[in-house]
Amino acid sequence: MSNQRKSTVLLEHHLKQLKLPTMLKAYLLLAQSCAQEKCDYPTYLLRLCEKELADRQKRAMDRRIQAARFPLLKTMDSFDFSAQSSINEPLIRELLRCEFIDHQENVLLMGNSGTGKTHLATALGFAACCQGYKVRFFGCSSLVTCLLEAREDRQLQKLLTQLEKQHLLILDELGYVPFSKAGSELLFEVISRAYERQSLVVTSNLPFENWTEVCGSERLTGAMLDRLTHRVHIIEANGPSYRLAESRKRLARRKKNKDQN
Ligand code: ADP
Ligand code: MG
Repeated sequence: MSNQRKSTVLLEHHLKQLKLPTMLKAYLLLAQSCAQEKCDYPTYLLRLCEKELADRQKRAMDRRIQAARFPLLKTMDSFDFSAQSSINEPLIRELLRCEFIDHQENVLLMGNSGTGKTHLATALGFAACCQGYKVRFFGCSSLVTCLLEAREDRQLQKLLTQLEKQHLLILDELGYVPFSKAGSELLFEVISRAYERQSLVVTSNLPFENWTEVCGSERLTGAMLDRLTHRVHIIEANGPSYRLAESRKRLARRKKNKDQN
């Protein structure tokens, strides 16, 4: 084996051992382009490291997005503020910078069904994943079910510890399904553990005065709201349902097509 071939084999082996897959893939081509540009050795090495670092950051971001388990990936790019004029756009833009997570503040998205609350909560979570935060999305009811099941299986502490490791928890759709007494108490446990340690984004179709209907006891609901709203940004979406508007438009288009044929 020639010396050069030996070096190549060893280099590739070392890059694999060091877990530098992008360097492994890119080092030859980059060497050729750097030779053409007459770059010095440190510049070549710098460019190679930059490639590895960029790929590594992208892979970590993809992992965080996967781990967040968004039901559907919605971002701000596809949100039409003109369709929902009740929403405070400057506040949303500010929240997208994720400083609220650094300050362990909460976000409450309130309003009727179809006004984009889940979309906005997901978009905030997505922005947080892109900026390096650990996020986990839950429908409120399924979180309560998970908590109840975990308690039955003696896995509750494990689940609570997993939740505590997140920077941001998204609790979607509080208000559609009332919780059992035990369910409300476990949800309260999550909210009170998160208090001043993590951020919560909660979406709800119910005004605060009706939360007792889903959480049961007035005392527990009061304590829950107290923690949630201590340091909170409230976004109200009180416009028309986007879903309804879209399906009306679709129906109108179909009717128009039918009339034309
Ligand atoms: P909510 O959680 O308030 O019931 P969703 O966020 O689930 O509403 O919105 C319902 C559907 O309408 C989703 O597909 C969402 O992406 C879309 N949607 C709602 N509001 C807007 C908007 N302003 N711009 C673009 N899409 C929207
Ligand atoms: Mg929703």
